[in-house]
Amino acid sequence: MKKKKILNLFIGSNNQGKIKEIRDLLPKTVEILTPKHFDLKSPKETGITFKENSFLKAKFFSKKTKMICLADDSGLEVDSLNKLPGIYSARWGGKKSNFSLAIKKVYKELKKNNVNWFRTKQTARFVCALTIYWPNNKFISVSGKVEGTISKFKKGNNGFGYDPIFIPLKKKITFGQMNPKKKYKIDHRARAFKKIKKFF
Ligand code: IMP
Repeated sequence: MKKKKILNLFIGSNNQGKIKEIRDLLPKTVEILTPKHFDLKSPKETGITFKENSFLKAKFFSKKTKMICLADDSGLEVDSLNKLPGIYSARWGGKKSNFSLAIKKVYKELKKNNVNWFRTKQTARFVCALTIYWPNNKFISVSGKVEGTISKFKKGNNGFGYDPIFIPLKKKITFGQMNPKKKYKIDHRARAFKKIKKFF
């Protein structure tokens, strides 16, 4: 029997950068609602893994809206910082999700570790966990990642979050300098999305 495709979807995120990217990954025929439409705030992220947090967000929003919900939990892992900011990536931007503050904090922590950090290769990766949660309590969680390095300087105005300081493997420019269409083909979210594409 052919699986029923999802036609109406709630995206459980208040992050406009993520919503834009997820919208671009989904077929145009999928009707999308976001917390803005329901005046809903995101739940506290009490999980200790990306998967746990994407699951708790998807479940929370599905219960509130009685809709099928897709939620993302993602972040940047810097190896020399013991994989921080990791699940705290959004929180490093403070209460107002100030991405430039979050980037400053990455540079500050790298310098704290090693004043000559910029002479070394700083390996890092973006990780993304996606959960779809159905009102009948069925769910699926998947994840994807993209490896790269931290740029010595902040470069580019595209994208959001840590995009201006992340250079994906085998590329010479940051995600912030990359055309968004190109980023969406190779990034962590696109890789995770491939695993749930069949539902749309
Ligand atoms: P959360 O998943 O809403 O807790 O937040 C994830 C945070 O990780 C975002 O606020 C960004 O700071 C960062 N992040 C996740 N995905 C990306 C990306 O594709 N580019 C840049 N930053 C990202």
